[in-house]
Amino acid sequence: MNGFISQNINQIRQQLPSHVRLIAITKQVSVIGMREAYGAGIRDFGENRLQEALLKQEQLQDLPDICWHFIGHLQTNKGRKVLEKFQWIHSVDSLKLASRLNELAGEIGKTPQVCLQVKVLADPNKYGWEIPELLADLPQLDHFSGLKIQGLMTILPLGLSEAETFGAFRELSLLSEKISQANWLHLQMQELSMGMSADYKFAVSAGATMIRLGRIIFGARMS
Ligand SMILES: *Cc1c(COP(=O)(O)O)cnc(C)c1O
Repeated sequence: MNGFISQNINQIRQQLPSHVRLIAITKQVSVIGMREAYGAGIRDFGENRLQEALLKQEQLQDLPDICWHFIGHLQTNKGRKVLEKFQWIHSVDSLKLASRLNELAGEIGKTPQVCLQVKVLADPNKYGWEIPELLADLPQLDHFSGLKIQGLMTILPLGLSEAETFGAFRELSLLSEKISQANWLHLQMQELSMGMSADYKFAVSAGATMIRLGRIIFGARMS
């Protein structure tokens, strides 16, 4: 198949450094579109709603090497299902959620890879730690041996200039370096999940290791 989805993926890939993991964000995308992305080599898929993701996972059971990333705000009562069905959770956004996931992971015998969601810039509409709060919670997070904490994730507020966008991504990158200089038992800081369709080029130049792209691959969403 060589439709526009494959073309978009190939075009993006050509500009990406090889160490950057491209995660296709498929909220509101049909499984037909997802199969085309798979055909173009995508193995990392990200969803932000559990019910939608579970339906698609059932319909894509014949593609067993997909790695599923959960990227949406997660209520603790859905934690168990997300742990069972996703390899990555990018949106661990509070100590309470991390603690609950750590317990659940122990109960079901999984060690999910997770990122800690950080609000680099204050944004009342977003979940996540502000930087000082995160620094204060790190010692407790480091004891959650049921989770593989792999790094940081951020979503920037809308309406930033290019310079502000790059600056905010750079700040997350510097924060990650700073955190990784301390001696932790479990915490790892090798991943930076940052960059969406509108801003991923800035994220990549600021050190992103995982970018999360939806619209630029699949076209505009309904909302
Ligand atoms: C929707 C979404 C994306 C992808 O956004 P696009 O603008 O479609 O590239 C990335 N990350 C998160 C957390 C999202 O919810």
